[in-house]
Amino acid sequence: MTASKVSIERAQALLQAGGLVAFPTETVYGLGVRADDEASVSRLYRVKGRPSRNPLIIHIHDKAQAEALAVWTPLAARLAETFWQGPLTLVLQRKADTKAIVDNACGGLGTVALRMPSHPQAQALLRGCSFVVAAPSANRSSHLSTTDARDVERELGDSIDGVVDGGTTPLGLESTIIDAQGSVPRVLRWGSLSPADLEGRVGGVAWEDACSSVSGGGVLQASGMMARHYAPRTRMRLNAMSFDDNEAVLLYGKRCPAGGRVRLNLSAQGDLKEAAANFYRMLHELDKTGCDSIAVMPIVNEGLGVALNDRLQRGSWRGKLGGHRNVDG
Ligand code: AMP
Ligand code: MG
Repeated sequence: MTASKVSIERAQALLQAGGLVAFPTETVYGLGVRADDEASVSRLYRVKGRPSRNPLIIHIHDKAQAEALAVWTPLAARLAETFWQGPLTLVLQRKADTKAIVDNACGGLGTVALRMPSHPQAQALLRGCSFVVAAPSANRSSHLSTTDARDVERELGDSIDGVVDGGTTPLGLESTIIDAQGSVPRVLRWGSLSPADLEGRVGGVAWEDACSSVSGGGVLQASGMMARHYAPRTRMRLNAMSFDDNEAVLLYGKRCPAGGRVRLNLSAQGDLKEAAANFYRMLHELDKTGCDSIAVMPIVNEGLGVALNDRLQRGSWRGKLGGHRNVDG
């Protein structure tokens, strides 16, 4: 059984009644739930298999809504002005006096992650809700994110109440998460906004890169900091320049070695934007082939390539289990 496709109006009614509904954003599909209902939020964590301390991103449709939920800083105002609506999530101190977001939606933290998506269907959905919507990515915890309704259905099936089918999401990679509580932006997860985007549009700011390495220590603050995450079911082999006969192969660029059983190219032109848009869809595709492993060619580690390589490393991480680095959502 799969989740049924629903209209935006039906999705709003389902959310109102405490349901779980997937919807498209410009980054990946989100799995929405009303943020003021503890039981519904708990169900979302159960359905995803997400650890309860991994907080959800709150999706808002206008600045007034954002200001009612969080304590704003000059830095946050500047970033929101520049990048909203868009693939930027801001982490701010949560206002204690609001009942709009239950504690378990924020993993019990005193902070809240806010994002204002630009996707027209996400906007329409959020605008028509009389409650605030929390929405993590629409996938099982630690698996690949989803970028079309078919992959959402394959991933979550009838454990959710509906999906708004908006076709393929244009950017294909999650939002970039920035802690904007202080005066220096702390990047917690690289995503669809690249270092170059940030530098180009808010130049002269000293960014603190708080995305710790896969094996490093540190305090858990975002899924981008978890060792194993964004993983296909099939084992991945990175930086591959030769391929076995029974491998699924993820290529990048013009000059690709021969070999492999199934081959997909993220971008024959070596265009990172195209590669990011294709990334999860192609990995889902290769994951379905039944091949022994997925061999991935090297991807240049600049611009959006930073986020792509981060996902690949975490998706292929096979370290010792135990400790927060291996807990993901
Ligand atoms: P997902 O929506 O599945 O891409 O995951 C969103 C990520 O945002 C989660 O892994 C969280 O760790 C991160 N996040 C949400 N709320 C907060 C917060 N208050 N502080 C830091 N990170 C957060
Ligand atoms: Mg996720």
